[in-house]
Amino acid sequence: MKPAETLGRLEIKALLAGEADDWLFARADEVKRQYFGKEIWLRGIVEFSSYCRCDCHYCGLRAANRDIERYRLSHQEIIDSALKVDKAGIGTLVLQSGEDSRFRQDGISRILSTIKQQSQLAITLSLGERSHSELALWREAGADRYLLKLETLDAELYSRLRPGRVLDKRLKLLETLKSLGYETGSGIICGLPGSKSDALADALLALSAMELEMLAVGPFVSHPQTPLANTANGNVLECQRACAILRLLNPGANIPATSALDALQSGARLDSLSRGCNVLMPSFTPQKDSSKYLIYPGKNASGCPLEQRLADIKLSLKARGLHCSADRGNARRQINV
Ligand code: SAM
Ligand code: SF4
Repeated sequence: MKPAETLGRLEIKALLAGEADDWLFARADEVKRQYFGKEIWLRGIVEFSSYCRCDCHYCGLRAANRDIERYRLSHQEIIDSALKVDKAGIGTLVLQSGEDSRFRQDGISRILSTIKQQSQLAITLSLGERSHSELALWREAGADRYLLKLETLDAELYSRLRPGRVLDKRLKLLETLKSLGYETGSGIICGLPGSKSDALADALLALSAMELEMLAVGPFVSHPQTPLANTANGNVLECQRACAILRLLNPGANIPATSALDALQSGARLDSLSRGCNVLMPSFTPQKDSSKYLIYPGKNASGCPLEQRLADIKLSLKARGLHCSADRGNARRQINV
């Protein structure tokens, strides 16, 4: 996909440093409107298990965290939650979880087939690193997209913060996903402790070179029950600049305004929709469990019922001259509006 602006490393570094915020955010908004008009894609996300075999230093769901209450939805609960997404007039379901080995390939396949038989939903999976055969089977069973964030493109930092894992394997998995025909997404955590000063500019260029359909940059939010407790949070404005730069480099990609933005600064998620982002992912995880999906403090913190949250989103978008789309919301290859 042709970039909307040709930006080199030095220009990106200057933009990340805030040297032209007014231009950057206005241009990102303009490009987003050229490709997506006033529409914001909603993705209903069902976070179906907080069990995880991994020990990522940044994440509250890490296996070594014995202080959280874990939950796992039943297959029927997952299907029922998915169908609520369809009923709410939302075109895409995201199924996300920790790397939970109890959900085997056949179980996930049955869930996917059932949802596909009973709805028109596009389905995005975000289940971490799984085998080639699992990914192939799930694609056949109806999964359309897969989200696998790289978190950082610094191989040494990656292995330090994700014990037992290597960046190269994650990169190869992204290739596998593409070859299986998934719309593929990745991204990074902005402000991850230990990141080198120029790493963000390099990561934005590297991610853009991968020609992905979905790109996500969310700020790091320190979790008190992890080895990264008491480290500084990421910077909301820097994260918004990173998303705006991604919009210029990848004009038709889907770029979510992540919930981590709101965990650090109330309202920042909605503001990002006027700064290049075009996707929002309200949680459809049943209320009895949603607050237990505690990746970081503030995640799924709203105690409001789902209907109220959806109505609030619609009103807030309307106030910004935007509206929710029921479309399944594929990435766009060319200017649409
Ligand atoms: N387990 C799957 C995986 O890791 O790909 C999917 C679920 S994981 C909870 C989803 C995302 O949460 C990760 O890709 C990571 O970027 C984000 N995340 C985890 N801990 C975070 C933190 N402390 N601050 C910001 N984002 C975080
Ligand atoms: Fe598990 Fe994903 Fe959290 Fe890592 S980021 S501990 S893989 S849920």
